[in-house]
Amino acid sequence: MNEFLSQPVTQLKGIGKETTEHLIAIGIHTIGDLIWTFPYRHEDFRLKDLTETPHNERVTIEARVESAPTALFLGKNKSRLQFSVLAGRHLVKVVFFNQNYLRQKLTPGMVITVTGKWDRGRQVIVGSTVNFGPKTEQVDFEPVYSLKGNLQQKRFRKYMRQALDSLGAEIAETLPAKIREDYKLLSIVDALEGVHFPINAAHAKQARRRFVYEELLQFQLRIQALRKANKENEKGLSIAYDVNKLREFITTLPYDLTGAQKRVVNEICKDLKEPQRMNRLLQGDVGSGKTVVAALGLYGAVTAGYQGALMAPTEILAEQHAENLHAWFDDIGVRVALLSGSTKAKARRELLAELATGNIDILIGTHALIQPDVVFEKLGFVITDEQHRFGVEQRRILRDKGENPDVLFMTATPIPRTLAITVFGEMDVSIIDELPAGRKEIETHWMKKEQLSSVLAKMSMELEAGRQAYVICPLIEESDKLDVHNAVEAYEHLATYFGSRFKVGLMHGRLHADEKDSVMRAFSDGEIHVLVSTTVVEVGVNVPNATFMTIYDAERFGLAQLHQLRGRVGRGEHQSYCVLIADPKSDEGKERMTSMTETNDGFRLAEKDLELRGAGDFFGKRQSGLPEFKMADLVHDYRALETARQDAARLLYDNTFWSDVEYAPLRNMLEVSGALHGERID
Ligand code: ADP
Ligand code: MG
Repeated sequence: MNEFLSQPVTQLKGIGKETTEHLIAIGIHTIGDLIWTFPYRHEDFRLKDLTETPHNERVTIEARVESAPTALFLGKNKSRLQFSVLAGRHLVKVVFFNQNYLRQKLTPGMVITVTGKWDRGRQVIVGSTVNFGPKTEQVDFEPVYSLKGNLQQKRFRKYMRQALDSLGAEIAETLPAKIREDYKLLSIVDALEGVHFPINAAHAKQARRRFVYEELLQFQLRIQALRKANKENEKGLSIAYDVNKLREFITTLPYDLTGAQKRVVNEICKDLKEPQRMNRLLQGDVGSGKTVVAALGLYGAVTAGYQGALMAPTEILAEQHAENLHAWFDDIGVRVALLSGSTKAKARRELLAELATGNIDILIGTHALIQPDVVFEKLGFVITDEQHRFGVEQRRILRDKGENPDVLFMTATPIPRTLAITVFGEMDVSIIDELPAGRKEIETHWMKKEQLSSVLAKMSMELEAGRQAYVICPLIEESDKLDVHNAVEAYEHLATYFGSRFKVGLMHGRLHADEKDSVMRAFSDGEIHVLVSTTVVEVGVNVPNATFMTIYDAERFGLAQLHQLRGRVGRGEHQSYCVLIADPKSDEGKERMTSMTETNDGFRLAEKDLELRGAGDFFGKRQSGLPEFKMADLVHDYRALETARQDAARLLYDNTFWSDVEYAPLRNMLEVSGALHGERID
């Protein structure tokens, strides 16, 4: 690689100590870091017609100054400059704040180009930049970078210009000519120029197209190389389960499995039997019945003489799983045990001894499962529930407690099928896309704060009928204090409102784990009627008697999370309700609320969510394990992703890819990522 790129940015002219700090704050240490810092948007300087420009939108116009500017001084260094201009046949006002020096330069009759925010109602442009003269020499698009401190865009662009100029044509091309020709992609030099200094919109677009494809191709090569290496290198177990015993078990269930449940059970059983190691993701909406599917898989492993493990993120969830499994398995001689942080020392010792000798068939638990002294005799199948709640390392430790056990991850976050298959390319994906028959749809309403009293009246009716209710307050990430405050305030209000009639409980993230557990248990046992909570209640809790959920400030939540929360009700025989109290300001927020009232289908909401927010937000950057892309967006660039997926699949089995020097940068990228050696990103 070019040596110039690894030099510190301070090599560039005009970068002093303070600027260096600002650059480091946004992750720029070297010249290479600088040129790979992409703008997050482009300012559009194309001329627009004011009559067609919506309120509050940025606009650039060419206009003639009609009146000499008048200045109003608002305090130290603060001023407001105002003048009128004629744009076409439109006489409008232009206002500049704190740019008093413009006063001398603007004289009636001169033609200027102004960019600013259009206040349609008041017919005013709140200016941000002005150029003296008509628009002609200006560029159409100027990149805008995400900068910190008082580092100005203009200055940043100067450094960028210097870096690109010094770089010349020396930077090595990273995409083979064949690929660039096939897709008519810009060279790396052209593309960098187009990203940072586009001559027009088309140039910027072409530059983006190149980097999007390149990023997605690299991504797909990585996950597919990984999958290939794993298939070739790793022998898994061939678990010969007893199909008759599974069939018999199914007949003892109080319901028929849904078609989707049957399908995924078959997929899992097929993986168990095959000698390759299972690496499967099971997705199913809340309430779709993943537990029984997991139980069937575990039972399958047990019938073949193996042990199974099921790890859940919280004690309550682990306990619920244990309860279910005990009920199903105690009578048929399958030995189920629960291990959590609160298992007493003596019981734990006994349990571990039983586990090591193979007297326990299925072990359920929390993180407690991954402690070093938890040793299985013959672990064959590992399931992780709500997989995103665990780190890669935790999941790996559990897996390593067996010799190449089959692995299943479960998640209740629906991800549209096409996207899941492409993104989790190194895993197989099973989807339960059907709810058990006879489920009542949760009736969802969107209301305003002013209607709270009628919401509470409806809640009271449910409580009087013997049901329970959740009240959810948003978690405000920047401020734990505020978060707790909101919940406490709601709690106090409701406690006063219900007085001695009903008992109100409070749960939030600041409580200790055992305090949370005891509150949750009291709710579960019906001792608490109304549970005020922050989103800590979100994960898989099952209280079928709870039929009413009110979500305060619902506009603060994403669709996926609202749907998860709503899934806490509608779990029993009674009709359930969800009330969203929200006053969203944005159209997107309004659309989210409307979507919630229109459907209970998690997959449809997931698609809507993707559409509204883009994939980055949807997956949540940190918890997804997805790489962060500089340019690509998994939703909007879905077609490029699909193309890249097919290309990657072809390339990995093509000799040219492994030998031709043109492909060396891509091969190198794979080598560095570790994917060729089958290291996992699961
Ligand atoms: P989740 O996928 O959210 O973990 P659960 O496994 O907790 O869902 O199942 C939710 C509820 O649905 C449970 O009460 C369970 O007994 C019930 N259930 C599961 N499968 C079926 C089915 N095929 N028919 C009827 N009820 C079912
Ligand atoms: Mg579950």
